[in-house]
Amino acid sequence: MEATASPQRVSMDEITALAKRRGFIFQSSEIYGGINGFWDYGPLGAVLKANVKRAWWRDTVELRDDVVAFDSAIVMHPLVWKASGHVDAFHDVMVDCKVCKHRFRYDQLADTAQCPDCGSKASFTDPRNFNLMMRTSVGPMEDTSSVAYLRPETAQGIFVNFKNIYQSARKRPPFGVAQIGKSFRNEITPGNFTYRLREFEQAELEYFVPDDGKDLDAFTEWVERRKAWYASYGIASERLRFYELGEAERPHYAKAGVDVEYLFPWGWGERESIAHRGTYDLDAHMKLSGKDLRFFDEAAKTHYTPLLIESSAGVDRTLLTFMIDAYERERSVDPNGKETERTVLRFHPQIAPVQVAVFSLARNKPELVERAVAIEGALRRSHRTQYDEGNIGQLYRRQDEIGTPLCVTVDYETLGDGSVTVRARDSMQQDRVAGDALQSYLEKRL
Ligand code: ATP
Repeated sequence: MEATASPQRVSMDEITALAKRRGFIFQSSEIYGGINGFWDYGPLGAVLKANVKRAWWRDTVELRDDVVAFDSAIVMHPLVWKASGHVDAFHDVMVDCKVCKHRFRYDQLADTAQCPDCGSKASFTDPRNFNLMMRTSVGPMEDTSSVAYLRPETAQGIFVNFKNIYQSARKRPPFGVAQIGKSFRNEITPGNFTYRLREFEQAELEYFVPDDGKDLDAFTEWVERRKAWYASYGIASERLRFYELGEAERPHYAKAGVDVEYLFPWGWGERESIAHRGTYDLDAHMKLSGKDLRFFDEAAKTHYTPLLIESSAGVDRTLLTFMIDAYERERSVDPNGKETERTVLRFHPQIAPVQVAVFSLARNKPELVERAVAIEGALRRSHRTQYDEGNIGQLYRRQDEIGTPLCVTVDYETLGDGSVTVRARDSMQQDRVAGDALQSYLEKRL
């Protein structure tokens, strides 16, 4: 696929190294050699992830009067996955190399005659289906009746509860149900850091509309809303595209589909899909359960099955997108004419794990430390803050690398007149700000 911007702006090695060094993301179970497809979010990563989820939740649920919240169980009745088609059709085709024993997704092999890892010719097993659902067993007995699955998507929890939700929330289509939660897929080839995981989080919106001829408008409105969301967090437009799926690329029941793709360092990759799924999901559950999940229109005294617009985004892929997009290696010349280089994450202030860092210029001056700690304590009530002390250049470098928009430094002048230096991450410009003006100064910039 063509690239409209250089995918090599930053390498995955650089992102992975920064993520580990600064405490964003660690390999899961690292001391035991790790486990493929699983990652842990460190002290800054956990906050970043919460911020990403909050940004989605705010726009998708809280700012709308027609979307309600939901949180379903990860393990559901196995028939849920029979009805949804996951038991019979949620699989990838895989092959093994008989020489090096490595396993591949058949559709991802550039050359089906030669192993890409060991170079052996005609060494592959016959292609076979591999179901991606993770199995577990529920209850004290382990037999076929105890088989259950960890959900491979959060959406089905909403579909099977459709009637409970609309009746208890007193909603009528058009209305939506949103959920953020863990999903599990036994991916054959996890990789590209946190792009393809075996345990990940999804943020899904299921928007139910009447079949009144305006369903495609609702689809377009959600696509536009998602576009505006990415733009509001400053994701570079040349690295984001909304790819419209042609009829042959969509499932037979889908009336429209858009994949939201980002230009990752290895090329374009999906990070969200928006689809018009018709009545497919509710129909499937009505058929297998025998229960009526149709909406009852009181006024017209009729039952009907609403159409569904779905927006399904990966939280981990969103976080990775935000990190890669914010990343920059920047060269500049300091006042002494010396060339310097810094790494900076230009996070949007609402996404940045730390919004304001407060420093004491010296570590061994109790009156400075005390003052800086007091300022940080006061700012903590309204912002995500962090206190640090030491060499100011090193402190700036560290905060640039974790994407902190503003740094406040307490120095000897502060002890006299209360003023502090505020330094901006992006411009590196420094302002002297009076103590009683600090709060409003920060609010204006964050
Ligand atoms: P892919 O083609 O990359 O496997 P998909 O089309 O199967 O993805 P969907 O079933 O549409 O993905 O899931 C919706 C979203 O969930 C994706 O856009 C992605 O952001 C996220 N997602 C799906 N699978 C994974 C995974 N293995 N790791 C991380 N995120 C995932």
